[in-house]
Amino acid sequence: MSIKKIKMNVRKNIALIAHDNRKKDLLEWAAFNKELLRNHSLFATGTTGQIISKETGLNIARFQSGPLGGDQQVGAKITEGELDFLIFFWDPLLPQPHDPDVKALLRIAVVWNIPIACNRASADFMISSHLMSEEYERLLIDYESRRKEFLLQYES
Ligand code: PGA
Repeated sequence: MSIKKIKMNVRKNIALIAHDNRKKDLLEWAAFNKELLRNHSLFATGTTGQIISKETGLNIARFQSGPLGGDQQVGAKITEGELDFLIFFWDPLLPQPHDPDVKALLRIAVVWNIPIACNRASADFMISSHLMSEEYERLLIDYESRRKEFLLQYES
């Protein structure tokens, strides 16, 4: 199976998402790590982004609110290579109206091998990694060459 590499720059494109019961947690985390986060480009689903940018002054590009499609927008941006880091404090105790979108986003983040933190401890370890201030090459299964091989059988 062939593998390809995708370069992550020193300045990471980080998506921030928190379900309602986890927003306070993510806000505290973002406020604590404000100076580190300033070195990166930040994105968020609508409500999460609004709260964090208001409380911390961080500049955050906002997508739609999660239940209105924001998680799917984040997933699409990961697929397009425009987001390379996901901090997603999802609620493990409460079903969400957009649970299928949440599952889809987590799946696509794994497919594209991007770092994902779903709780505060993981986010702490990730943000304090020396890799945050270095370039990094993500290894990825080269699905495209697999797809080309598959298509060969239809060529006559
Ligand atoms: P929100 O969306 O930031 O707009 O609340 C988060 C989510 O529920 O996925």
